[in-house]
Formats: sequence, C-alpha cells, structure tokens
Amino acid sequence: MAPHTHVIGAGLAGLSAAVRLAGEGREVTVYEAAGHAGGRCRSYHDSALDRLIDNGNHLVLSGNRHIFAYLNEIGSTHTLAVTAPAAFPFLDLQTATRWTVRPGPGAIPWWLLSPARRIPGTRFGEYLQVLRLARAGNDATVDQCLDTDSTLYRRFWEPLAVSVLNTQAHEGAAWLLWPILRQTFGRGEAACRPCLARVGLSETFVDPALALLGKKGCSVWFNHRLRSMEISKQRITGLSFGGERVGIHPGDNIILAVPPSAAAGMVPGLAVPAGSRAIVNAHFRLEKSRNDLAFLGFVGGASQWLFTRRDVASVTVSAADGLAEESADFIARTLWSEVARALDLGGDLPLHRVVKEKRATFAQTPANMSLRPQAQTGVSNLFLAGDWTDTGLPATLEGAVKSGRKAGGCVLSKLLDT
Ligand SMILES: Cc1cc2nc3c(=O)[nH]c(=O)nc-3n(C[C@H](O)[C@H](O)[C@H](O)COP(=O)(O)OP(=O)(O)OC[C@H]3O[C@@H](n4cnc5c(N)ncnc54)[C@H](O)[C@@H]3O)c2cc1C
Repeated sequence: MAPHTHVIGAGLAGLSAAVRLAGEGREVTVYEAAGHAGGRCRSYHDSALDRLIDNGNHLVLSGNRHIFAYLNEIGSTHTLAVTAPAAFPFLDLQTATRWTVRPGPGAIPWWLLSPARRIPGTRFGEYLQVLRLARAGNDATVDQCLDTDSTLYRRFWEPLAVSVLNTQAHEGAAWLLWPILRQTFGRGEAACRPCLARVGLSETFVDPALALLGKKGCSVWFNHRLRSMEISKQRITGLSFGGERVGIHPGDNIILAVPPSAAAGMVPGLAVPAGSRAIVNAHFRLEKSRNDLAFLGFVGGASQWLFTRRDVASVTVSAADGLAEESADFIARTLWSEVARALDLGGDLPLHRVVKEKRATFAQTPANMSLRPQAQTGVSNLFLAGDWTDTGLPATLEGAVKSGRKAGGCVLSKLLDT
C-alpha cells in the first residue's frame, strides 16, 4: 500500500502542504473541522450586504515568494489584481493630508532622496532607522528600536508594525519586521506591488486548491474535527474524530496544520505561543460601485486600512482587542464616519457587517518567538504547520504557506529516504 499523508486543517498551511504533496503524486487526505476550507482566509456570501465578502481584508505583496509559488501550483495567479507600479496611498485623518508612497526600482532606495517622494514631514536620514530593525535583538520591541516621537513613526513605522504583526508596537517583536522589509521594500518596486483577490479570498486561495486536490484524487473531509491522536513508541498509530477512528499504517505521515491552542491540546508536551490578538473588519455596502479595486492607509483615526471592491468598502483594524469589545453598532458608526470622509461620501450608515476575529493571530511578542516550534516533532511521523510555527516570518499568509510547503517537503524527504 502506498504511504498516505493525513493533513489536519484546511487553512492555507494545510492546503499548501496537501497541494505540494499531491503535486508530487503522493496520496493525501485532508480533514477539516469546519464545513468549509480556508480557515482565517476565506470569502462567503453575506446576507446583511447581499454580497460576497472576505472574513477580513488580506493584502499580499508581489515579493511574497511562497504565496506566488503556491498560487502558481493551483493556477490562480491571474485572479489577483496587482497594483503596478507599486503605490501605497495614505490619508492622515487628523490633518487631512494625503500622500502616496511609491517605492523606486532596485535595492537602494534612491527615491527617498527626493523630498516629493518622501512621506510629508519626514527627512531622508530618518529612514535609516530601518537598520535598527535589522540589528534588533530577540527581546526588543518595535517602539524600542525606532524614534517614536517622529512623524515617520506615526505615519509609517507604527501603521506598518501594527498591520504586519497584528500586535501593538510597544509589545511587537522588532526583528520580525526585518524579513518582510527585506523581502519586499529591500528588493525595490517590483517586489512591493500590492496584490488583492479580484473576486474573493476563497476564489483565489482556497477553491482552486480544492479543485486541484480533487483532480489529483485526494479527499477533503469537512466537519471532521480531530479530537485526539494515538501515539505509541513515538509514532502516531490512530486519529480519532469523535466517533470515527482512522488507523495510521506504518509509512503514513500526519501534518497537523491547526491553530496553536488546538495543536497543544493534542501533542503531549508541545509548547506553543501564548495569547492572541484580534482583527476587526467592517464591511459597508455603497450606493454605487466604485468600479475599481483600491486601498488606502489611514493614520490618526480608528480605521487602519480601507479596501473597496465594486460597491463594498471594507475597513481593517489590527491589534484591535479593545475595539473588538465594543458593540457592532459602535464599531460600524465609528469606522463609517472615517470611510465617508476618505471617500467623500455623505449620508447615513449604509448596510454593513462587522466581523470580529478575536483570535486573528498569535500575539507576536518577543516572549512568544522562542515558543514557535519547528515542523519536525519528537513523534517520527508527525509534522507541524501553521502561521504560528517557526517560519522566521510574521503570522501572515506568506508564513502560513511557507510552513505548509515546508511540512510537505519534510514528508517528501522522509518518503524518499525510506
Ligand atoms: C481578519 C484577518 C485579516 C488578516 N489579514 C492578513 C493580511 O492582510 N495579510 C496576510 O498575509 N495575512 C493576514 N491575516 C493572517 C492570515 O489569515 C493567517 O496567517 C493565515 O490564514 C493562517 O493560516 P493557517 O493555515 O496557519 O491557520 P488557519 O487559517 O487558522 O487554519 C487552521 C484550520 O484548522 C482547522 N482546525 C482547527 N482545529 C481543528 C481540528 N481539531 N481538526 C481539524 N481541523 C481543525 C480550522 O477550522 C482551520 O480551517 C489575517 C487574518 C485575519 C483573521
């Protein structure tokens, strides 16, 4: 019997692991607790808006190489709308100042020498602070490395850190920003192009993967929550899904691609990052379609990023644990007042939906960094994946996909060795 790989969890980590293995002709079965795939990255039809919405806006950049490798494998690169050349428009809600960051070509940011290309109120020398992130120690937080009184901090570093780490700058691990900056801004304009799903997250990241797995003869079982694993002599011998038991044959492998709390409950002795941070999204149905796919960064208000797709405007607030405690009505009114200003719209609060993802990512603090496990475990046929594992990247789609591809690669290497 050919060796089989059982992937637990159909988020982006699990899907990318399964796709990698299926692409090599390996037998794979995916088990997902929910009735749908995608985990924290999915789209669905919302009844309040009568529109397809994403659970939360997801921005990826053209330099995210693991994501693009995955999208190439599942054949959905064309479903992304890419802003080229790269441009990041911002609005300071306190001063009504607007500007657009337009990175130049090449690794050396010559474009910053031009005052017109810089963020208003900033000086060239201040940008060199980025080198402090490159040298940040394991214990340093973002605010300890940067000049927090500067306009550059308020208008760039803080919004960047909060959105990338989903953790406030005073507690976010500073060094974790560096790999992202190096992978994108450090490689020039072509690596910084903002990419958004044209139709929805599932249509780009999830459905094409499920279609490919189906074509390769792999099964995906929904409503299958793994409850426990039988471990004997450092090997998993059985998986229990409540009333259903799946026997694990010698030579079979398991990739556990579930959130940290679920993994810790099933793998004896596994230490995982503690605590999570929320992301709040508010979606508003506009009177008219904007016929564009655009986004805008906010400074100086409650809103952080605004995305418009046809007649839906969606606002994201990261590290939003305080806001998530407020009522949906309060959140909608607060964010709509800022959206209306940004888009020059008047009128009453339109049809809306507030989505609170209370455990959007793990808290990306220095203390949690040493608690991110490797893909390999002490159990010979068990591998871990997920944005919270030790990817060297923040908890993002790029990190999740990197972890899944890595876990899939570990299984492939093991199969080749045996
Ligand atoms: C609102 C929001 C906005 C975001 N914005 C961005 C962004 O702009 N850019 C970016 O790069 N990233 C963003 N992220 C982060 C990104 O979504 C995550 O990093 C990524 O989706 C994590 O994928 P994952 O596979 O590691 O985990 P998950 O997506 O959580 O997948 C885990 C899966 O395992 C399943 N599961 C759990 N327990 C079990 C069990 N016992 N048995 C079987 N299945 C189980 C779950 O149902 C889930 O489907 C955002 C996240 C949120 C919530």
